Amino acid sequence: MGSIQFSEIEQAAPEMDQLRDQYSRFREELQAAQDEATAVEVMNRWDALRREHGCWISLTHLRFHQDTANAEYKQAREHCDQLTPQLTELDISIKRLLVNHPLRDKIESRIGAQAFALWEAEIPTYEPIIEEDMVKQSTLSARYIELLAAASLELRGETLNLSGIAKYAESPDRELRHEAQLVRCSWFEENQDQLDEIFDNLVSLRHGMARKLGFDNYVELGYLLMQRVDYGQDDVARYRQSVKELVTPLGVELRKWQAAELGIDKVMAWDLAVFFPEGNPLPEGDHDWMIGQAKEMFDEMGGGLDSFFRLLSDGGFMDLKTREGKAGGGFCTSFETVGMPFIYANFNGTRGDVEVFTHEMGHAFQCYMSRKQPWVDYLWPTYESCEIHSMGLEFLAWPYMEKFFGERAEQFRQIHLAGALLFLPYGVAVDHFQHLVYAQPNASAAERHAIWQELEREYLPWMDWGDLPHGSNGGRWQSQRHIYLSPFYYIDYTLAQTCALQFWLRARQDSQQAMDDYVALCRRGGEAPFGELASSAGLVSPFQEGCLGDVIQQARQALPISV
Ligand code: ZN
Repeated sequence: MGSIQFSEIEQAAPEMDQLRDQYSRFREELQAAQDEATAVEVMNRWDALRREHGCWISLTHLRFHQDTANAEYKQAREHCDQLTPQLTELDISIKRLLVNHPLRDKIESRIGAQAFALWEAEIPTYEPIIEEDMVKQSTLSARYIELLAAASLELRGETLNLSGIAKYAESPDRELRHEAQLVRCSWFEENQDQLDEIFDNLVSLRHGMARKLGFDNYVELGYLLMQRVDYGQDDVARYRQSVKELVTPLGVELRKWQAAELGIDKVMAWDLAVFFPEGNPLPEGDHDWMIGQAKEMFDEMGGGLDSFFRLLSDGGFMDLKTREGKAGGGFCTSFETVGMPFIYANFNGTRGDVEVFTHEMGHAFQCYMSRKQPWVDYLWPTYESCEIHSMGLEFLAWPYMEKFFGERAEQFRQIHLAGALLFLPYGVAVDHFQHLVYAQPNASAAERHAIWQELEREYLPWMDWGDLPHGSNGGRWQSQRHIYLSPFYYIDYTLAQTCALQFWLRARQDSQQAMDDYVALCRRGGEAPFGELASSAGLVSPFQEGCLGDVIQQARQALPISV
């Protein structure tokens, strides 16, 4: 049908010498610009180049994730890691010029204030003095990805990777769940020295970069790198506190309900994911069947999701099955030159497939809906806002879950809601952990594990690891990819979840209104900061006093626990 095909997207690596000349011409032209129209015309050409670079980086990283053992992909990724800091430097040279430009006010009135806010956050995060450190950081990150992707786990005669073994966490057979967790935790224990070493190197490297750039430690730099332009560490600390006060006690109740459902005394670490004695509901078919059901679902949801999903699936912009050598996790990336996103996941036959898929589809849809935004800076919002689109779609998809789970759809919805709430204390613990780790960069590995253990007691008091190694020694954080790969990218999910729950509540009142507001929010992309995007969609900011309390109060009523 002439729709764009993923296989046809190609993007060559930039030629750096040529590019440096090109950028110095941009700078000269911008400096010479006498009016904003001229400046904006130069900026448009710069924007086109940035899209090419973004597209090249996306393709290179995607291919490496798809096959971490492929030497050619690995080499391409290494080349990309080498050049990325240089590209950052070139772009920052233009951004610096623009924020200090005599025509700034006029340019700003044309392109919006948000781009300038983002650039002002980014400028202090890079100097050529950290170029080598940035490359080292990428190498260490890749080591972590490769190590986890290569995990080969034996369970009852079956060989599994980490994504594959996760399905046994939901088995109705408690013995099997325990055995699977034992195998998994033992793998982490066997590799703990390497995991500690990689992380220790990452922390020293990040701390060193922060010091070279003039910061006390990595925390402030981390916030700037996350481009948090309208809230700071104090807001986040207050929000974590409110989760501890309001959601942790609810979590305790939910775990009691879960134990009662399962007919066990206490939910142990190997029981966390399973909520019903017959096991959690599973999608009633395989990958291809799920794609067919998803097509029906998006057709019924409309709002543009229908035609977009066809473009995505017909064009091959998805890689959802797990396989040997494929890196774990799920994400959405985009090819800015053609305005198409790509969904990556690791299906393992559990309900999580439907969650991950609707989640990543939310990101992809937003990216597609904002593809007409004139500046690459506005294609994606900052991460806490991005996660509203993904987590919001998970909730908006609720009425269609019969398509995947048949008669067990209501159970799916109960688990999804309970999971969304139980996630909040875990999410803030991951955030708090990173604040503590980067405030004490010289802590030993044992001290870091002790920090996690303490946080687990504080935020997740129901956790009981029993006889499992690694987890019982405070090691759980080592399987949380973001802690290694995307520092400080985690509170975002909890902030977005508080917004997504508001979409869910709205959809229960008026599903059409919720859908319209959702599509309108997606279309805005990243043209505004978090607070403004949220309020334009009629969402109360999670930082506002009382917001979380209200949301939790209403969510409680839909839970099968006594009120
Ligand atoms: Zn996401």
